[in-house]
Amino acid sequence: MLINATHINLLHVCHRELWLHYHGVRMEHTSQTVAEGKLIGETSYPERAKKYTELAMDGIKIDFYDPKENVVHEVKKSNKVEEAHIAQVKYYLYILRKNGIEDPSAIIEYPKLRQRQVVEWEDGDTKKIEAWKQMVEDIVTREECPPLLHARICRSCSYFDFCYSDQPDTPSNS
Ligand code: SF4
Repeated sequence: MLINATHINLLHVCHRELWLHYHGVRMEHTSQTVAEGKLIGETSYPERAKKYTELAMDGIKIDFYDPKENVVHEVKKSNKVEEAHIAQVKYYLYILRKNGIEDPSAIIEYPKLRQRQVVEWEDGDTKKIEAWKQMVEDIVTREECPPLLHARICRSCSYFDFCYSDQPDTPSNS
């Protein structure tokens, strides 16, 4: 099974979303949040594309890799630093290392927050990531879609209508 960085990210967000995404149920085209994120990624650092290179290997696609400094740059539109972002970027580092790139590191940039999160490789990460891969596999090979999360994040999820259209109680914003 080819696991990619989006799967690892979604594992840390919602198992139902991971399952739906894996099985080809896509709603991103209807989501304002996804469109906004893409726009922030494309426009926040216009000079970046000239300086950095794009890398694709083993199911990952890194938009901005700085070969000189050996650093991955990832842009997120979020209002907070999220565990899922760190997990996604750790997965990039894992794949880079597996492909012979020594000691890469990463910086997650949050233009809305004017904040950066440095992500370094740590002891035990290989084991941790291999456990995440196994968890992804266990979830996506289930016959049944995992249950609704009933969480605040559902409100900004592209699957919100899909998940809650026939539910009497929808998660609140607060
Ligand atoms: S709306 Fe909620 S339950 Fe449904 S996929 Fe999104 S986060 Fe998961």
